[in-house]
Amino acid sequence: MLSVPEDHPRYESLLLRERLVRGFEMGLVVEAGLIAHGRGEAFDYLLGEETVEWADRATLAAVHCMYRSENPVLSVNGNVAAVVPDLVGELSRRGIKVEVNLFHRSEERVKKIISFLREHGVIDVLGEDTDMLINDLSHDRAYVSEEGIYSADTVLVPLEDGDRVQALREMGKTVISIDLNPLSRTSKTADISIVDNVVRVLKNFNKYWMRVEEDGSFGIDVYKSFDNEENLRKMEEIMRGGFVGDN
Ligand code: ATP
Repeated sequence: MLSVPEDHPRYESLLLRERLVRGFEMGLVVEAGLIAHGRGEAFDYLLGEETVEWADRATLAAVHCMYRSENPVLSVNGNVAAVVPDLVGELSRRGIKVEVNLFHRSEERVKKIISFLREHGVIDVLGEDTDMLINDLSHDRAYVSEEGIYSADTVLVPLEDGDRVQALREMGKTVISIDLNPLSRTSKTADISIVDNVVRVLKNFNKYWMRVEEDGSFGIDVYKSFDNEENLRKMEEIMRGGFVGDN
């Protein structure tokens, strides 16, 4: 049972914190994941904890990009599993493969995350049998499955580290990041960088996916004219300019 009162003015943010703490107690999230979340919260505060237009455009472009891919894969770490398991489930039912990929990898933790995701409706979770290695990566994120990230043409990487984004791009993949920090190496290296909270992004992603399925021309202009550098610059400007919402 979550203990955040629903009438609290920052209910959503506190709910997320609580999910992470629960995830930590269950062994899905590591200590470093709690710290990374705190950094994300600080950037989200600067956005007024809402999706701004430029982040929305990046999400729409990302949907078109994934929709057109032959083997799109969503990479999931402990934080993502803990905070948005149901939304990951929705994506998996749209034909996007889900692979658990961890910086701090242990077989036990991978198994726990996979079974937690399955309980939340994620189908076919990859990442337990990692038969391939991403070259030039010295940490555990290098272990990937052949069927998933290794052979993917597009990889969606929420809350990632910059090294692996670089390595995936060098393998010829299109990389879409979700990271609230527009200055991170991840955001700077990805092909499409969505600077927004992963919770809001995956909600919007599912919504836009349905729209594009109904009508392929929906938002196509945004995708075709999308300029990642410009988008990141706008996001940074918004954050430097102060609050855009009521806090
Ligand atoms: P890089 O190597 O890309 O420079 P980093 O070392 O800063 O990244 P981490 O310490 O792994 O990266 O932190 C993960 C990133 O995830 C942080 O930039 C943080 O802002 C972001 N983040 C944390 N929680 C969320 C969230 N809920 N939604 C979106 N982004 C988040």
